[in-house]
Formats: sequence, C-alpha cells, structure tokens
Amino acid sequence: MKLNGENLKISIQKKGRLSQGSQELFKAAGLDFESSDGRLFSRCSNYPMDALYLRDDDIPEYVQDGVTDLGIVGLNVVEEKGNQVAKLDYLGFGTCELCIAVPKASGLTSAFDLSGKRIATSYPRITGAYLEKRGIDARVIEISGSVEITPSLDVADAICDIVSTGSTLRLHELMPIEVVLKSEAVLIANQESLRNPRKVALIERLRARILSHLEAKKTKYVMMNAPESALEQIRGILPGMKSPTIVPLAEEGMIAVHTAVPEDVFWDVIEALKAAGATDLLVVPVEKMVV
Ligand code: ATP
Ligand code: ZN
Repeated sequence: MKLNGENLKISIQKKGRLSQGSQELFKAAGLDFESSDGRLFSRCSNYPMDALYLRDDDIPEYVQDGVTDLGIVGLNVVEEKGNQVAKLDYLGFGTCELCIAVPKASGLTSAFDLSGKRIATSYPRITGAYLEKRGIDARVIEISGSVEITPSLDVADAICDIVSTGSTLRLHELMPIEVVLKSEAVLIANQESLRNPRKVALIERLRARILSHLEAKKTKYVMMNAPESALEQIRGILPGMKSPTIVPLAEEGMIAVHTAVPEDVFWDVIEALKAAGATDLLVVPVEKMVV
C-alpha cells in the first residue's frame, strides 16, 4: 500500500504515552483506521486520511516540512523543537508539566535561587528561554535521558523535567519548585496546508468531529422532574446554557426538565437544582455535541 497523495496525512506517536490517546481520539471522532500493528502508516476507511506512526520528537519537523498536514504531539515537544507549525487545538490528554526541581536538602526554593547554578534538562530551549525571561543566569546542561539522577551525580544542582505524578522526583529526593510549562497533546498543522482550500475543508471537517467529542466530554445531560412552579427558579440555575427542554408529566402540575450541564460546574448546579425542588435526577454522558 502507498500513501494516497489526495488524502490528508496526520502523524501520531507510534509507541508511547500519546499513542493510545491519539487512537482513542480518532475512534471518538468516528474515524476507523486499519490496525496499526508494526506499520509505518495506515489508512482511514471512512475519511480521506492516512495516519503516519512516528517517534514523537520527529512529528513537528514532519509537519513543518509538509510530509504530513497534521500531527498530534505534546506541547512540550512542539515548544522545544521550535518548528514553524500552527497549533490548532488542545486535545485534553497527555497532560504533564515541565518543572524545575531541586534536591530536597539543597535549600533552594525558587527559580531565582538558581543564578550561578547548573540545570540539567532534555528541554534546553524551553528552559533557556524561561531563565532568560526572568533574568536568571544559570547554566543549562543538555542531557538526553534520566535527567533526575544528575543532581546525585553532582552533574547539576537542579533539573528541568517532565512531571506527571511526581513519583520519580520523590524517588530521587527531588522537589519541584517552579512550573515552566503546562503541557498536553496538541493538534498541529502545516502552514501551507492551511492555505490550500481543499485541505482546509478536510481539516475543518475533521476538527469539527474532534471538537464535538471534546465538548461532549465536558458536558453531562441531566433529566429531572420538578413542580411546574419551580421552573423559573430552575431556569435561573442554568445560566448561559441553551434553553432546556420542558415536558409535561402525567401528574398534574409536574414537569420533566432536560438540559446539558458543563462538567466543571456540575455539582454546584445539581445541588442548586435539588434545593429548587428538582427530584429524580438522571445524569447521562454525552457522546457528541454538534452546535
Ligand atoms: P518516542 O519513542 O516517541 O520518542 P518518548 O519516550 O519521547 O517517545 P513518551 O514518554 O511516550 O515519549 O512521552 C510522550 C509525551 O507524553 C511527552 O512528550 C509528553 O508530552 C507526554 N507525557 C505525559 N505524561 C508524561 C510523563 N509522565 N513523562 C513523560 N511524558 C509525558
Ligand atoms: Zn520522544
């Protein structure tokens, strides 16, 4: 099988922390790919798109050079590589932080204590820019892996590395003192592809599918019963949301109210609805949201 020149091309991580999330995102957006086992690329059977499986470090370069139109990669990698690509959407998985950490016993407590010190990192570009912006004159030592052992080897006084749970830091008696970058997977695009109307149309259709899934993940659908007299108060609790669906119930004076509720205010809204007289609340996940 060869790549189809007409198809949109997207590069994703072959094997690693972003692979599963990327493939789950395709699935949630309704895109069916042939199995990727051991292959360099595979074709989508229900969208004109091919996926290329690469090391994450190579993705920004491939997207910049137009080998693929799109890519899914960590923001940390995009910022470190510094390639000319457009960042389209944050995708809500692969979240982690690039942090400066120091040995617990070092007495260092802020990035400003690092002047004259050595910082080991696999992210010299981001780290260097962070220090420069704050006028901190520290030496950045580039290390390609196992950065967390460098303080104990006296190679560095501090590190700047990816942290998600903090367990690796604790294991090495390090503690984070500054967050340099909050990262998650991001959809990036080739600049030329964004000037090609045919590709833009395909990219926008794809983004609409992805975004409808991301929006749905942030929303719950709530159904409840309530006395008709509580309707005004209930509507007042649902600010900024689309007009709820109101259905009369068989019981005189009672209604059912159906509405979408954003996840981040979910419990506040539910508690207020109960206080207003809503009963029999039923909450269901939303699979897609198309607005
Ligand atoms: P590759 O073989 O593709 O080069 P890798 O070993 O460089 O893989 P992974 O460890 O799979 O990369 O991490 C990929 C991305 O996952 C990171 O760049 C980062 O954006 C994100 N990520 C999320 N949590 C973590 C974590 N705990 N450690 C490292 N990366 C994380
Ligand atoms: Zn990598």
